[in-house]
Amino acid sequence: MKAELEQLKIEAFQLLNRAQDSSAVDALEIDLLGRRGKLSTLLARIPELPVEERSGIGTLASSIRKELQDAIVAKRGQFSAPTSQSLDFDPTWPGHSPSIGHLHPVTAFLERSADFFASLGYTIADGPEVETATNNFDRLNIPANHPARDLWDTYYLNPARAGLLLRTHTSPVQVRYMDSHKPPVYIISPGRVYRHEATDASHDTNFTQLEGLAIDRDLHLTDLLGTLEAFLKHTFGKVKVQVRPSFFPFVEPGVELHMSCLLCGGKGCSACKQTGWLEMLGAGMVHPTVLKNMHVDPAKFSGFAFGIGVERMTMLLHGIPDVRLLLSGDQRFLEQFHY
Ligand SMILES: [Zn+2]
Repeated sequence: MKAELEQLKIEAFQLLNRAQDSSAVDALEIDLLGRRGKLSTLLARIPELPVEERSGIGTLASSIRKELQDAIVAKRGQFSAPTSQSLDFDPTWPGHSPSIGHLHPVTAFLERSADFFASLGYTIADGPEVETATNNFDRLNIPANHPARDLWDTYYLNPARAGLLLRTHTSPVQVRYMDSHKPPVYIISPGRVYRHEATDASHDTNFTQLEGLAIDRDLHLTDLLGTLEAFLKHTFGKVKVQVRPSFFPFVEPGVELHMSCLLCGGKGCSACKQTGWLEMLGAGMVHPTVLKNMHVDPAKFSGFAFGIGVERMTMLLHGIPDVRLLLSGDQRFLEQFHY
């Protein structure tokens, strides 16, 4: 009987392969597996077998039945219209590649700028975002009663521990650094700073600065301007730059560098407050009082310092119209900046 079962299986598969439509498959199923089908007819003879052979034949018959049932279902599937369920898995589709993150445009800008200044011999200095009023103001020549403090209004922490605040610029890193270093010094200090002010298209309450400090013998304003011009050219290529006199309590003289607004081509827009120019940098020669506060003899050394508004430069570089987009966390915005 074993040979008959094997033969039935071979014939059944041949017939199944030749079936042209689903009704032929249906007929075949009844003929093979139906109550009066070929398999049942064969199995009806099991009681005639010697007892010791019965269970082996029964097992073989069950496995053949299962194979035939599976083959019939698969064959029937070839003739039925594809359903949405059968389309759920299509092995020819490309796989899902994992989404890989990338640097935030501000971080990318900082890294490129740090590379540039490193090529000029600058090293990177770091400092805390929570500062003492002494480091943030007093040692930078902004005493408590000085009106300039109004320009740098910020967030004060726990009034009971007077004097702790969120730093308004990265300049306190300079005085911290000079507590443990002697000139010549060439450092940059990138970092987050805070201001208490209303937000608009070009101002936010927290933003990023890239501060630079150079202290050496015989440094002059021309060294400062040459350094900053090289930096702006490195970043933007050909740009129009204005140098205007300005006031910052920690430098003397102080200057502002303005660049023609690349967003509006100088015609005026909300980002440049309709002036056509954007203030990019505050800079100047380090004030002798500040040098003394940093344990440096102003008779022997001079220095220059500059503060770069990183968001503003990133906006110009990419044509971003509103600074608030940078901290919005909106992935549709951020995903445009793969580097
Ligand atoms: Zn503009």
